[in-house]
Amino acid sequence: MLSLADVMQAAKTLRGLADDTPLVPSALSGRLGTDLWLKLETCQPVGAFKLRGAVNAVSNLPEGTAGVTCCSTGNHGRGVAWAARAKGMRAAICMSELVPQAKVDGIRALGAEVRITGRSQDDAQREAERLARDEGFAEISPFDDAHVIAGQGTIALEMLAARPGIDTLLIPLSGGGLAAGMAVAAKAINPDIRLVGITMDRGAAMKASIDAGHPVEVEEVASLADSLGGGIGLNNRLSFPLCRELLDEIVLVTEDEIYGAMQALYYEDRMVAEGACVVGIAALQAGKVEPGRVMGTVITGRNVDMTEFTRVISGQDVSLGDLTVKGRVYEP
Ligand SMILES: *Cc1c(COP(=O)(O)O)cnc(C)c1O
Repeated sequence: MLSLADVMQAAKTLRGLADDTPLVPSALSGRLGTDLWLKLETCQPVGAFKLRGAVNAVSNLPEGTAGVTCCSTGNHGRGVAWAARAKGMRAAICMSELVPQAKVDGIRALGAEVRITGRSQDDAQREAERLARDEGFAEISPFDDAHVIAGQGTIALEMLAARPGIDTLLIPLSGGGLAAGMAVAAKAINPDIRLVGITMDRGAAMKASIDAGHPVEVEEVASLADSLGGGIGLNNRLSFPLCRELLDEIVLVTEDEIYGAMQALYYEDRMVAEGACVVGIAALQAGKVEPGRVMGTVITGRNVDMTEFTRVISGQDVSLGDLTVKGRVYEP
């Protein structure tokens, strides 16, 4: 359904635009009992990996497409806006009236039009669908699209080209576009590689869907790993079957474990990154994954709420809806 050739084709499309981020050794390696490498997608122009998939999708649109649309206010929205500008195409990003002004401004600054409709994510989604139906726009899925998945897969190509000895990849998992793409590439290059998808234990849609044998909805709750929230889509065609087939394990981590891993990445590797990035480190710290000899994980994005981030690194409590993560000062 998707092969290494598709990912290699995507790598050509991304060359010079959204490729070649640093792969650096983690200062946490020693204490984690492994040789851990960090792929820094925080160094991408929009501060997250999502523009890989978006650039590949935009580049493969049929002639005569009026523009691109999606309803994400997060990293996918930024990625689509950036990709459209890079390719000289119109982008209309749909959001509800409730989206904070800072996020609206962030998307506008990337050159996209912002369409504000209604008071919920569902209203925004309907507007994106209307643009696709009535105005000739192409709606780009954040994870369930062959070109998006192939684009995200280029991360594994770059990691395994730079460090062919990597025997385990720890992949942050939400809708599964990143994991599916990396898995297609990595398993083709090295069939023995171990692939672990990792996500938070509250609202783990892909895990619940794999357990059920079909896509299911889960309740979305606030998380330090907010970029990992959301469902996989009840009509998921690609990322669900690929993750089910290719991931060796799925591991869930708690908010408390994410909190500790955000502190560790900050104090030891000196990195500012979203909670979504550290789930691999959290799983290692918690003893939930067996350390490999040489491991790699993706530091997927840096678009963290700085008020929340400074609370975490200074050891204060963080409240997430009905849950309070108890603060604690970092101890190596
Ligand atoms: C989108 C995203 C993920 C998860 O990617 P999926 O393809 O949805 O599994 C992880 N980290 C960050 C920062 C993201 O924006």
